[in-house]
Amino acid sequence: MKPIVIAHRGASAYLPEHTLPCVAAAHTLGADYIEQDIVLSRDGVPMVLHDIYLESTTNVAQQFSDRCRNDGRFYAIDFDLAELKSLTVHERVDDQGSAVFANRFPVADLQLRIPTLSEEITLIEGLNKSRGTHTGYYIELKSPAFHAAAGLDIAVSVIKVLETAQLHHENAPVFFQCFDPDTLRYLKHDLHSPLPRIQLMGENSWQEPPGVDFDLMRTEQGLDDVASYADGIGPWIPQLFEADGLTPCHLVTAAHARGLVVHAYTLRADSLESGFKDFESLHRGVFLGAGIDGVFSDFPDVTRAFIDTHVSTDGAGS
Ligand code: CA
Repeated sequence: MKPIVIAHRGASAYLPEHTLPCVAAAHTLGADYIEQDIVLSRDGVPMVLHDIYLESTTNVAQQFSDRCRNDGRFYAIDFDLAELKSLTVHERVDDQGSAVFANRFPVADLQLRIPTLSEEITLIEGLNKSRGTHTGYYIELKSPAFHAAAGLDIAVSVIKVLETAQLHHENAPVFFQCFDPDTLRYLKHDLHSPLPRIQLMGENSWQEPPGVDFDLMRTEQGLDDVASYADGIGPWIPQLFEADGLTPCHLVTAAHARGLVVHAYTLRADSLESGFKDFESLHRGVFLGAGIDGVFSDFPDVTRAFIDTHVSTDGAGS
C-alpha cells in the first residue's frame, strides 16, 4: 500500500480551512482522504470547525459582540445551527487579528460559511460521483469531554450523520481520530463502531486532553495498550524522530510491530516542524526515513506528487 494523503482541514494552504471550496480543492488536488474536525452546535449539529472557539476563523466578534464568555472567547457550543450558519468564515488569524500564515489566502470576506458534516459529505460524495473517485473521510472528534460537560455526546451525534449517509459500516472510507483514548475505547466497546480508530498523540505540555500521558503512550508498554482499542496512531511529526529532528526513532517500527498504522501530522511548507532544511527533505524524512503510512498535509498536491514520484507500493523510495 502506498502511503495515504490526508488533506489537513482541506487544501488549507490555498483556501480558508474547512470551507467547502477548500474541500473541493483538496478533492481535485488528489487527496485520498479529507479531514473533518468536528465541533457541535448548541442544538447538537456536527459542524466542520477546527476550534471549539469561533473568533479565529469567523466574524463572530462583529456579529455577536455580546456573546463571548468571561474568558473573552466565543464558543461554537453557545450558538445554534442557524446562528453559526449566519457567520462568515475567513483565513485563520491570531489574537491580534493578523494572518497566521502570511503567504496564504488573504483574510478576505468571500461569504464562506461553516459547513455541517452532512453538507460536507454531500459535497465529497458528489465529487466522488462526478470525478469517479473514492476520496474518504478522516473525522476528528474535538474535545469530547467538553461536549459531554454541556450534555452533548459528540461521538453519537457524528455516528448518526454517518448512518444517515450510509457511511457507518466496515467498508466505508472513514477513519475516526481523537486525542482522547477514553473516546476511542467508547467507540469500540460501547458504541461498537465498525470504523477504524486512530489515537492522536500530542505533547503532555499541550494538556489536550488534560491528564493523558502521551510520553507513556509512545513507550512499548503504552503502544500495547493503544493496540487494544485503536487501529493506528497519529503522532506529531517531531515525535517520529530523535532529538535531532532527523533520525527516525523507535515509534513507527514499534507501532507496526503491533499492527498499528501511522498517520502523522502535519506537513506545511511554510512551517517545517523538524530539523529538515526544506519541504522535499521533510517528505523524504517522513516517508523514506521514518516509513509512515500516511500524513496530514496542508499541501495535498505537493504530498501527492512526492508519493507518486518517490514512494513505491512497498514503501521503498527512489
Ligand atoms: Ca484535526
